[in-house]
Amino acid sequence: MNDAICPICEARFLRDDDGTGPCPGCVRKYPPSLLRAARQQGLYRLSLRGEPSPYTFTSAVIHGQYATLRGTAANKENMDVRVNDIVWCLG
Ligand SMILES: [Zn+2]
Repeated sequence: MNDAICPICEARFLRDDDGTGPCPGCVRKYPPSLLRAARQQGLYRLSLRGEPSPYTFTSAVIHGQYATLRGTAANKENMDVRVNDIVWCLG
């Protein structure tokens, strides 16, 4: 077991591997591709409940029940979305 700090929520936890991934709480709470977007730039897409078309973004910052999407294609501004409203996320 290694003492670790979660890169997403900054909670201290005991890790049973040598990886650098998020804590079990974050793994349960957030979609895997959103966790990836929070740690590595790429091309991601997600769909929000009630929105007809998906959003493209290049990275995300997760803070509690919200995530800030960066580099959305619609505009170059950051976009805050409620994690509970994410229908699907890929990337
Ligand atoms: Zn965490």
